[in-house]
Amino acid sequence: MRAFVTGAAGFIGSHLVEHLLEVGHEVVALDDLSTGSIDNLREVSDHPALQFHRGSVLDADLVDDLTAGADTVFHLAAAVGAFVVRDRTVEGIRVNVHGTDVVLEAARRHGARLLVASSSEVYGKNTKIGLREDDDRIVGSPLMHRWSYSEAKALDESLVSASVEAFGMHGVIARLFNTVGPRQTGLYGMVVPRFVAQALAGEPLTVFGSGEQIRCFCHVLDVVPALVALAACDEATGRAVNIGRSEPVSIDELARRVIARTGSSSTIERHTYEEIYGRGYEDLQRRVPDCGLAEWLLGFRPARDLDDVIDSVVADQLGRRPAMTRPA
Ligand code: UDP
Repeated sequence: MRAFVTGAAGFIGSHLVEHLLEVGHEVVALDDLSTGSIDNLREVSDHPALQFHRGSVLDADLVDDLTAGADTVFHLAAAVGAFVVRDRTVEGIRVNVHGTDVVLEAARRHGARLLVASSSEVYGKNTKIGLREDDDRIVGSPLMHRWSYSEAKALDESLVSASVEAFGMHGVIARLFNTVGPRQTGLYGMVVPRFVAQALAGEPLTVFGSGEQIRCFCHVLDVVPALVALAACDEATGRAVNIGRSEPVSIDELARRVIARTGSSSTIERHTYEEIYGRGYEDLQRRVPDCGLAEWLLGFRPARDLDDVIDSVVADQLGRRPAMTRPA
């Protein structure tokens, strides 16, 4: 297979590229290096089956050229992270909406299979335990910019699903829940690499809000093979499929676990959402997936638990000596 991966130098993208090369595929990789880093691909930089291009998914001619000859397009390029949504809202909306339109159009024109990475953010404030793919979205006003990522991803999903129906193309949506592992940076908000960096530096772990909010974390090495299987799955065409782990943990408990696993002397420091995000920010109080559809379609069952996730991030950061420690 020849795969075209957008967002290839990002956290998930770089693991996907490595996996595709490992199983013998050719990979054409695109990234604008806005939040991704070429360093993420250093293990495979000399691989003869990898072609890397620096550029944007907003560049329709480039995307069209790179899609020609691809069997499958993995569209992972996106403006992601709570701090990116906060600081680069307009750019984020453009990349996340128009970028997907550009990639989808190229895949359609060249007859390639398409997988689009979406997000559990589409469920918004729905706190149901075991969110299923057809559950309602509950989101705030579009004038509250924190919802713009959820809105953009929801529109991407509608575009994929409607295009499958209208053009008979193969398109599938991976609705990713909190995905964590080596190379994820805390610079753009993600809580696990932030807590680990803070614990390793002996600085306070910055818990935003009450700390009672619930998330479920899945290791990127469990997620990546599921993306490849999903893109190849005919029965998944036109569907959105949750990919994640359903073991819930509160952010307070996560902070305590990170401190315990690193043996750190760090304390926990609370910040209000207003301090971090400005006025009117609403967090999601609980996000727990039902991944029954992925299990049924793909036999998906994550093998790694939360301690594996934390330990792998610790090992990665100890190897890389990250600069980032302090909060936003
Ligand atoms: N969070 C936190 N401290 C941090 C970074 C994040 O308490 O330094 C919280 C954040 O407010 C949210 C949770 O951790 O409630 C998960 O945040 P992340 O940005 O990793 O993912 P998402 O909000 O998309 O689930």
